[in-house]
Amino acid sequence: MVSHTSKTQNPAQPVRVSPWLVTLYLVAHVGLDAVSYVQPVLKLGITPLSPQTGLVLAFLYASRGNFWWVAAAFLVSEIIIRGIPMHVWILPLQAVSITVVYQFAAWLLRTRVPMDGVATLSGTLKFIATAAATAITAGTVSIGLYTLASLIPSEQFSSALARFWVGDLNGILLLTPLLLRFADTPLLLRAIVARPVAFIGVLFGLFAAFTLVFLVGNPGDLRFFYLFFVPAISAALIWGVPGFLLAALALQISLVAGVQRLSEVAALVDLQFLISTLLVTGLALGAVVTERENSARLALQREKQLRDSQANLARASRAATTGELASTLAHELNQPMTALVSYLRASEIMISDGNLHDARLAPTLRKAADEALRASDILRRLRNFYAGRDPQLESLDLPPIIEKLVEALRRSDRIGIESIVLRIDPALPAVTGDRVFIEVILSNLLANALEATAERSNALIEIAAARSERAICLSVDDNGRGMSEQARRDLFKAFVTSKTDGLGVGLAVSRSLAEACGGELRLAESSLGGAKFELVLPIDSVRNESP
Ligand code: ADP
Repeated sequence: MVSHTSKTQNPAQPVRVSPWLVTLYLVAHVGLDAVSYVQPVLKLGITPLSPQTGLVLAFLYASRGNFWWVAAAFLVSEIIIRGIPMHVWILPLQAVSITVVYQFAAWLLRTRVPMDGVATLSGTLKFIATAAATAITAGTVSIGLYTLASLIPSEQFSSALARFWVGDLNGILLLTPLLLRFADTPLLLRAIVARPVAFIGVLFGLFAAFTLVFLVGNPGDLRFFYLFFVPAISAALIWGVPGFLLAALALQISLVAGVQRLSEVAALVDLQFLISTLLVTGLALGAVVTERENSARLALQREKQLRDSQANLARASRAATTGELASTLAHELNQPMTALVSYLRASEIMISDGNLHDARLAPTLRKAADEALRASDILRRLRNFYAGRDPQLESLDLPPIIEKLVEALRRSDRIGIESIVLRIDPALPAVTGDRVFIEVILSNLLANALEATAERSNALIEIAAARSERAICLSVDDNGRGMSEQARRDLFKAFVTSKTDGLGVGLAVSRSLAEACGGELRLAESSLGGAKFELVLPIDSVRNESP
């Protein structure tokens, strides 16, 4: 199926009429009139086939006016093809009055049913109604003039009008959207190439119907005409409006050729009425298909846009905190850097004693190197996180991570051994998360707890880890000063701190890191009287559920 794009014909931008375009238009108008001048009534231009009307409407619609070129085309065509079989004054009068009717129709379409409308059912029905009204008005004006000039007997008025009407109607229904949606052709061709079997089937169907109607049956025998419905309607169902129009064009061309075999005037008129039924049915059906496919495509596009904008939003919100990156780095690197410096200082002291073989030197330098590596790891992971790259999720056992951090804390002499209590479920399942992120979160929570309990003589920090449903809850509780209602509300906002030397980014960053691991960081009710934070991480289902 082929989607209509609104850019193809924007009524706000009229096509510039160059001398080339006018010449092309005039030649096409006369040419179409000439090839369709079959079975006329009394050698007047009353034929049941008038493809030029579709061209006229498309030209007036796209060029916004050019009234006189169109009137001239009607006049020139009349003179070249039919000579002057009537009073000279009727010719220009008829050309001008028909042009007025078409000019009005073009204005109506442009303002009420822009050609993008044929991609929807309601737009298509409005287009069909406009075409029918235009054809009947143009017919009444023309036949009325012929009757007034006594060129046709008045009793032939209605039959001539019917013939004129159906010819004009079919011309408009077929050619106007085909020409105005010409820009859709590459899309249509691509859609056809994508369904070659269907295309061959439609072609074969048209050929088979043509053979039966014109070659096998008696000429003029329309019993088999309904067979044309099968390929034409199939094209509408497969490729929407453009596909149907192409099939209908092939049908109309083959009919012009086939009609040479029809001797009776009535036969072609009947055929044209059948074709208008086919055109109306096919256009409406094609519009339903096109509309449905367009809305499906639109829904897909919206979904993609939504996904893109969500990703952009996530990136933007990280980018917005890019300013925080420097602060965050300063915050997170502070601890490993301080440790690194103190290990190096200790090594320096050892060497300054002149004792290069001090047994403590090698392990101290190794620890310094470990801290330097940890700092660079933090740097790299945080940079990736702010750049919007995914965290490195892996299966992790929490106890060793917790123990390593607590060990470092105890070694730092910032807190007594008895002040830190670990309550870790021995059967703790593994979690998924980014190791460095979890380390950063935990060391932030511990640093805050240390700071909050610093003034207490009986400082207590409890670290617990237990399973809760499909997640692991790791909590850090303390008996520190706790926090006010206001502090609780602003807790995870960046740059909110109660400390004189605090940056207020630790918790905000920790929460983002927890979410990046698919978990969450929240404040809980402290059972020690201070503050308690809970880090919830998803259980590694693969490792824990495999036998
Ligand atoms: P910073 O530590 O740089 O101030 P954080 O985002 O880590 O930034 O903390 C923000 C604020 O939350 C702290 O300034 C402090 O007021 C409060 N806070 C965090 N943890 C605790 C705690 N365990 N006890 C009391 N207050 C806390």
